[in-house]
Amino acid sequence: STLQAVDSERTKLSTLFLHMTDGVVAFNQSGEVIHANPAAEEMLDMEIPLGGTVTYQDLFGEIAPLETILTLERDCLESETVRGERTLLFLLAPFDREKQVGVLVVVHDVTQQVKNETMRKEFVANVSHELKTPLTSISGYAEIIREGMVKSEDVGRFAGKIYEEAQRLITLVEDILNLSHLDEGAPGQERRQGIDLYALCERAVASLAEAARQRGIAISLTGSRQRVDGAEKLLAEIIFNLCDNAIKYNQENGHVAVSVTREGDRVVLTVQDTGIGIPPGETDRVFERFYRVDKSHSKEIGGTGLGLSIVKHAAAYHDAKIQLDSQLGRGTRVRVLFPLSQREAQP
Ligand code: ADP
Repeated sequence: STLQAVDSERTKLSTLFLHMTDGVVAFNQSGEVIHANPAAEEMLDMEIPLGGTVTYQDLFGEIAPLETILTLERDCLESETVRGERTLLFLLAPFDREKQVGVLVVVHDVTQQVKNETMRKEFVANVSHELKTPLTSISGYAEIIREGMVKSEDVGRFAGKIYEEAQRLITLVEDILNLSHLDEGAPGQERRQGIDLYALCERAVASLAEAARQRGIAISLTGSRQRVDGAEKLLAEIIFNLCDNAIKYNQENGHVAVSVTREGDRVVLTVQDTGIGIPPGETDRVFERFYRVDKSHSKEIGGTGLGLSIVKHAAAYHDAKIQLDSQLGRGTRVRVLFPLSQREAQP
């Protein structure tokens, strides 16, 4: 019968509302609650009993009066509000405009979306700024050479500056590409394979040997061959960035000690330096994009401020934990703790 059909429709609807991740609150034309699902109560952080204990006016009166929604010309009215830690999007819609039977409010948690959007905007602003600085130098040097304002014996020195700034740009663009690649969750799970972390460290140490020597820094590698399930390129990025920092932020005649060890059910990569250290309040912030402790010297050191955020993302991709201990003026130790390779973990 029709009544049965209505009843089963109602059951279907309440089941649907019960399991929805969006909050739903329905009101009759007097603004009394006729339905509220758990998600709505959770997001609004209150109980919403049926009836008139709390009304439309109490909950959403600030956004628009009930009459406005009952007779709304558009499909719905949207309103975004920050409540505590959350950003909520409310969609207010009339059930039946002509008959004015009631109002439906859908609550959508957009906290993460808003956060992502803010981060994206900041990132774009930072990137533009970081790209502009070396480009401005390059353009400036080239211009004064073009204008004949540089003596011929100085042209080589100026070309050297242009070259350095161009190199900086290349590093920066590579780092940015790496990061955005990681943001997309790439590379896919299927490309994970057992990788010898020690062999990757050998390669990183070899490729940085010359840079270390130029700064009078000794770099050593100890430990044993350990396998990690992962993406070779990302693992190499982790090692390279940590070693590169340990050399860059070291002191005269300093040391960098790299090791790969097994600790219980973890494979641990340690990069320890005898460098300038990181102030206690900033050990978390250094993992943020473009964050640098000493902005004034970063140019001569040549960092991009992206190295450690690449390390952070790449570690997360491998379900690895990062521990950073640092003492100002004495040195820094970074440990990356990887889960054992699946093959070794099996009995
Ligand atoms: P950068 O390209 O500037 O090195 P990172 O993201 O790799 O960018 O590091 C961010 C900041 O953290 C650096 O600018 C530096 O101030 C600090 N830092 C990183 N590693 C070390 C270290 N081993 N010793 C001291 N400071 C460090």
